[in-house]
Amino acid sequence: MVEVMNWQLNRMMAYPYEEARPIRQAAAVFDTNKCIGCQTCTMACKTCWTSGHGQEYMLWNNVETKPWGSYPLAWDVRELELLGPQHWNGDTYGGKTIFEAAPQGKKNIGWQPTGLDYAYPNRGEDEVNVTLTVKRYHLKLPHDMWFFYLPRICNHCTYPACLQACTRQSIYKRQEDGIVLIDQERCRGYRICMEACPYKKIFYNHTTRVSEKCVMCFPAVEDGIQPRCMRNCIGKIRSFGFVGTPQTARPDNPIDFLVHVRKVALPLYPQFGLEPNVYYIPPVHVESDEFLTMLFGPGARAAINTYQNAMEGNDPELLGALLLAVSTDKIISRFKVESDSVIGWADNGDEVVRIPLKVPIIERSAFDENLKVYRYNIT
Ligand code: SF4
Ligand code: SF4
Repeated sequence: MVEVMNWQLNRMMAYPYEEARPIRQAAAVFDTNKCIGCQTCTMACKTCWTSGHGQEYMLWNNVETKPWGSYPLAWDVRELELLGPQHWNGDTYGGKTIFEAAPQGKKNIGWQPTGLDYAYPNRGEDEVNVTLTVKRYHLKLPHDMWFFYLPRICNHCTYPACLQACTRQSIYKRQEDGIVLIDQERCRGYRICMEACPYKKIFYNHTTRVSEKCVMCFPAVEDGIQPRCMRNCIGKIRSFGFVGTPQTARPDNPIDFLVHVRKVALPLYPQFGLEPNVYYIPPVHVESDEFLTMLFGPGARAAINTYQNAMEGNDPELLGALLLAVSTDKIISRFKVESDSVIGWADNGDEVVRIPLKVPIIERSAFDENLKVYRYNIT
């Protein structure tokens, strides 16, 4: 083990390989406040990548209802139990990562799902958190029952647990974009990666007898096009691009802006220690700071406040960055808010999107003078 910097933990941590960051890192921001749980992303991925034999149970993209949903069954609860106590001293993580908590002779903690763990992909769907006590049987509004949708894909981690666990060195992280892939020729289906990935985003194919995972639609990304799950998102919750570190972040890069400048988008279970590269805007209606901190780290409440401030019209730049989500198929590498519009540019400098910050509402009179007819519901 060597010491590497994990900026999400604000400290050095133990990892088997030296720090080797890609030239740029593919990343996404998911706004949980806008996800409607329609599973269009799930089906977009399923029909594109996992419709073959042996892939029936695979959901490279899944959307689970938190706090009760999980796929595979209780993936996060089990990992958190193995990890033991976790605490933050301000912005610095004071507990152990999955690498540091490894028992003697192992490189990480982990567990192997069985077939039954994949039997209930929609377990807990739309179930609210049961905080209603008998005394409060009569529902009062606003109430504190809640749930939210958590869309999940592979995080293309900076320190992938899957990669370091593989004894065949079949898993690699691409230097050009940080996408984590499995070499299907080298893989022998040992499934050590499956045990190691705390997010359980490696799937074993029982027909081909090798492991598979989300490929971040790399052929599209190479062409400057966003992955399918992002392009097809009905709720327009997904932003895709490239993320830097706190030292290299560019304020005009929409992903850097959301993650590093405004800090509204946070990693999922940063305490695992993998520096995951899918970031989440926490749900504003979840009152439990403990729960939010457990999922997204200590910045969750501040992120919610910053987000709400933008929604109230006090931060046009943040509003503009958020409006870029699913506004174009192209990858946006630069953005600017200018005269009540947000503009996005691709890598080559082409303008790929321009959206007004506020959509104008035009009210027409019910009586059409030209045609001498009345029209209703035409605002
Ligand atoms: S989420 Fe899991 S499968 Fe994806 S890179 Fe990280 S450790 Fe590997
Ligand atoms: S397509 Fe978008 S809105 Fe629908 S479930 Fe997926 S992430 Fe949520």
